[in-house]
Amino acid sequence: MEDKEPNENESNKNLDEETLFVVSQTFKALGDPTRIRILHLLFNREYAVNEIAETLELRQSTVSHQLRFLKNLRLVKYRRAGTTLFYSHDDEHVMLMLKQMIDHACHS
Ligand SMILES: [Zn+2]
Repeated sequence: MEDKEPNENESNKNLDEETLFVVSQTFKALGDPTRIRILHLLFNREYAVNEIAETLELRQSTVSHQLRFLKNLRLVKYRRAGTTLFYSHDDEHVMLMLKQMIDHACHS
């Protein structure tokens, strides 16, 4: 306990490498228009991959790529029904933050 910086506060102390990595990756996830559109679509219900592609007019390979990125960060999850994967959002914090960001962008 003697080797701590005297001015180090609680919140700085608690931001370990792992936390910093996850937070910066999460901002990165939200820093891409396509991923924002996908997450925004998943606000209300689950979607099949081809349904996302059709709705957002994107290639299915693009959607799959972005969904993998979001899945790795545990921002989306899927359930399998036969050969179809249905994606839904998997994190209330990030969805709430996305909603706040959209509200922020829209208010005057
Ligand atoms: Zn605002």
